[in-house]
Amino acid sequence: MTSDERKAALDAIAAEVRDCTNCRLAQTRTRAVPGEGSPDTEVVFVGEGPGYHEDQQGRPFVGRAGELLGKLLGSIEWRRQDVFITNIVKCRPPDNRDPEPDEVAACAPYLERQLEALNPALVVTLGRHSMARFMPGARISQVHGTTARVAPATGARDATVLAMYHPAAALRTPAIERESYEDIGRAPRALLDARARRAAALPAADAAAETITEPAAADAFAEPDDLTIFQQA
Ligand code: SF4
Repeated sequence: MTSDERKAALDAIAAEVRDCTNCRLAQTRTRAVPGEGSPDTEVVFVGEGPGYHEDQQGRPFVGRAGELLGKLLGSIEWRRQDVFITNIVKCRPPDNRDPEPDEVAACAPYLERQLEALNPALVVTLGRHSMARFMPGARISQVHGTTARVAPATGARDATVLAMYHPAAALRTPAIERESYEDIGRAPRALLDARARRAAALPAADAAAETITEPAAADAFAEPDDLTIFQQA
């Protein structure tokens, strides 16, 4: 898929989400929040659902939790506009309650299609609802800061997942905030490893093309600090 095709696919999904009435959250939302970011990124952040500010603006992670997410990204010298940020449910649950299982199920096809279009190397989950999609049966207190392979049924056909606490939890608890900085510190290494694994799995011809479109080979980086997010071809 070319960059233009990825952008068109993401725009089409976003348009559907804004008009969606597939679950009861449509009745109480102000604006649906499809997600936003680079259509060419290798990294997708997946939160739980929009809060008050996100519902008002139609954009993900724009409140205090979004501010902290920006700081977490900045701590590893990544920029918000270079990743893609979305949620498990695209409409705000009333009073910020947890999304119900039938709401999560109704909204799942949108995230699957976003992941199919983006084909990320790394998915970073923010909070337990997002973690549950990519690490079924896990407990966030045990797996935050760890990685696993993603099941292709999620839409991400060859990705690694890194689990993190939700930034809102970090805002409530200083110990979780400290752990969140440690956890995101593992993201550059996780991206390097995921990129190397994907490159190793490519057929020879595709690998040659990949070398041209991504001039810095993954193993050329000695330290995660050297890592920037390279855009897909
Ligand atoms: S939460 Fe998802 S499924 Fe429910 S109305 Fe919003 S976009 Fe549609």
